[in-house]
Amino acid sequence: MSVVIDGNKVSQEIRQQLRGETSAFQAQTGIVPGLAVVLVGDDPASQVYVGRKAKACEEIGFLSREYRLSADTSETALLDLIHELNLDSLIHGILVQLPLPKHISTDRIIAAIDPHKDVDGFHPYNVGGLVTGSPLFVPCTPRGIMELLDRTGIALAGKEAVIVGRSNIVGKPMALLLLAQHATVTICHSRTKDLPAVTSRADVLIAAVGKARMITANMVKDNAVVIDVGVNRLENGKLAGDVAFDEVAPKTSFITPVPGGVGPMTIAMLMKNTLDAAIAASKK
Ligand code: NDP
Repeated sequence: MSVVIDGNKVSQEIRQQLRGETSAFQAQTGIVPGLAVVLVGDDPASQVYVGRKAKACEEIGFLSREYRLSADTSETALLDLIHELNLDSLIHGILVQLPLPKHISTDRIIAAIDPHKDVDGFHPYNVGGLVTGSPLFVPCTPRGIMELLDRTGIALAGKEAVIVGRSNIVGKPMALLLLAQHATVTICHSRTKDLPAVTSRADVLIAAVGKARMITANMVKDNAVVIDVGVNRLENGKLAGDVAFDEVAPKTSFITPVPGGVGPMTIAMLMKNTLDAAIAASKK
């Protein structure tokens, strides 16, 4: 029988736990964890994400600051703001919402963030730390998936894990985290030959492609655990994952839905990373 993993429920549990930890930390140190979210331009999806992050901060008891900059903001002006936030003792986490407008180098902006405030875990220092097993921060979506697997009681040691997608945000960090938990990991991408043959080997299949319902039942092994990271807007305005849920779910032991699976975990992990940043800063 297949179990649908409820990401909303797990993320609510984590957020509640974080509320308690935050008020205990504040009582002990007088410090309120602070998150600065920077949005450049008016991409509608990014606006929604930024709004959700601010709401989560408020709910948990963090200081939340939003910087909404116009699409024609120069790279220099954005770098200046990041330098300011790096020095701001009330701010423990800095998140620059991606994607950035084309005239700004994403790599340069990420590299300018103090790695100790890099709650997205995208700075090369933290990426290197993830490779060697000691990052300050782990990217929120893969960290959220690991938390979902852990809290669902899914053991990973010795399992065959296959990830479809090799982005810096999801696919690659996901592979490193699964490897650290002793899974045997394969990463697939657009040049992978005979994708169904590879995905059919997976005990744990992670889909992070951005193509609605591309993972079909013939690509999934019986009793696999299937984690769907994809968020795709259909023509009718509804959201769909990368997995054809209706046909795949009956074959699985566990599966995440879209919406309500991985998505809510991403924000919960951003909050966790921000509290971790504030705790680390209080010990300096
Ligand atoms: P990217 O576009 O950066 O990466 C997509 C990956 O999929 C690439 O590695 C690409 O391969 C691969 N790919 C594309 N087509 C195929 C194909 N036909 N067969 C095999 N592989 C293919 O996407 P992201 O990693 O940023 O995001 C993936 C999805 O996850 C999106 O839907 C995004 O919206 C969602 N997402 C959801 C989050 C959440 O919180 N729920 C957070 C982040 C992302 P190649 O490298 O060869 O081009």
